[in-house]
Amino acid sequence: MQLITILNCVEKSKSYVYENARFAEDGKTIEVESRPRKGNRPVCSGCGRAGATYDHQLKPRQFQFVPLWQIAVVFVYTMRREGCHS
Ligand SMILES: [Zn+2]
Repeated sequence: MQLITILNCVEKSKSYVYENARFAEDGKTIEVESRPRKGNRPVCSGCGRAGATYDHQLKPRQFQFVPLWQIAVVFVYTMRREGCHS
């Protein structure tokens, strides 16, 4: 059974998909790459409305998840920037 399959059982997301799980260079952390689901639009942090993506941040960010069998798990995600006109 694959890690992604397990993840989708415990933490299925409507907005994001998990793509790839691998060990980080330190050998003690599992990195799970994630990206927005097709058709999912970013939400403006100012007004809360969904808009269009106009850019991505250069460096992916890591979001800590619950550890698995005492191994740290992080989601690796490249933040989108939303072009809001309001
Ligand atoms: Zn806005």
